[in-house]
Amino acid sequence: MEEIRAVKGMNDVLPPESGRLSRFFEVGRRVLGTYGYGEVVTPIAEYTELFARAVGATTDMVEKEMYTFADRDGRSLSLRPEGTAGAVRAYLQHAVHRAEPVTRWFYAGPMFRHERQQRGRYRQFHQIGAEALGIAEPGIDAEMITMLVDLLAAIGVPSTRARVSSLGCAACRPAYRERLTAWLRPRVAGLCEDCRRRLDHNPLRVLDCKKPGCAAARDGAPSTLDLLCDACRVHLDGVVADLEAQSVPHRLDGTLVRGLDYYTRTAFEIVSDAAELGAQNTLVGGGRYDGLVEELGGPRVPAIGFAMGVERALLAIPAEAPPAAVDVFLVALGEPARRFAIGRARELRAAGLRVDLDHRGGGARRQIKRAAALGARVAAWVGDDELARGCITLKDLRDGSQREVAQADLLAAVRATLAGGS
Ligand code: AMP
Repeated sequence: MEEIRAVKGMNDVLPPESGRLSRFFEVGRRVLGTYGYGEVVTPIAEYTELFARAVGATTDMVEKEMYTFADRDGRSLSLRPEGTAGAVRAYLQHAVHRAEPVTRWFYAGPMFRHERQQRGRYRQFHQIGAEALGIAEPGIDAEMITMLVDLLAAIGVPSTRARVSSLGCAACRPAYRERLTAWLRPRVAGLCEDCRRRLDHNPLRVLDCKKPGCAAARDGAPSTLDLLCDACRVHLDGVVADLEAQSVPHRLDGTLVRGLDYYTRTAFEIVSDAAELGAQNTLVGGGRYDGLVEELGGPRVPAIGFAMGVERALLAIPAEAPPAAVDVFLVALGEPARRFAIGRARELRAAGLRVDLDHRGGGARRQIKRAAALGARVAAWVGDDELARGCITLKDLRDGSQREVAQADLLAAVRATLAGGS
């Protein structure tokens, strides 16, 4: 029969790699928790119009990359391509803005985009992201960037730095748009078809295009930072001063944009120079979106958020030896011994130890080999002789030392062996 394979671009994650993924989430949850963020869990599918409104109906993400389908009631649903739209929808739906002046939420889970496949770019991938709602001051912008640098360091991602920009606001962005459009127009021949189209309705997105031709054509484009109004300049100076106060490495870059209209002021990315990443070296994208809550039908609530690509950050972490899968392996010789061992295994597991035994039985050598392959530190050995005498033989698999303990003392003896040396 023909083999059925996983959907292209959607990966299985097997042990021990899945352990790296869950440790990443654990560290992420812990670090975000230290900054006061609580987890919001939203559905992975939403009504399509939410993304059309939040992300923008004419963006690549919505036009070309969403997994969109009609459900059995005929409503158009989409698998979420990003997390902010769902989080802000939930914030409004549950009137959280009325209950608290400041909300700090994070989310963690799979996102879906039908993108061209390449290393570090998948169709199902995971993001950890956060939204801080209710604070217009630059302090939260710098705090979020600082938090991300801390988070990536805690996870073990080497050489990260922040690129920071400001996109201005309704007062100063039109002048920049005009200057950029005028600058791009003579260079239109070098742009891709999408960017030619974008030139008229959203020229900022030309700066965001990943195609090499467009990157070359926009080289030397005017910087957003040159045309900021006084209020936006003060805001950006505040972000920079706070980053400096926290010794966070950063660089101002006036060509860094987020192409959607509701983005205001601060935009940032965290990149890593880890060689494994190649061109896909952006680990985190984020920015301020003071207009989004209103765009989704709510009041004007200032907000800032980020999204981090988990697989991509994992690529940047040097591969480590996978940790052992078990602590104790019970070697049982013969069926009576196996029956005895399963009861002891249950007790040890109830005490929090990771325990395995081989129900297939077999000789001692084979079982010890299996214990070693699983990385067990201790083998607890029982055969007819031990059963008759009420004892168990404990073997420390690191140094080979061996001793007999009373069956009643098994847990304490195993713990003592695990605690001794490393
Ligand atoms: P974005 O939501 O596009 O700003 O992306 C935020 C981060 O998610 C990026 O910096 C990447 O690290 C990650 N990311 C985005 N798209 C993908 C993808 N298709 N595959 C893997 N990671 C991705």
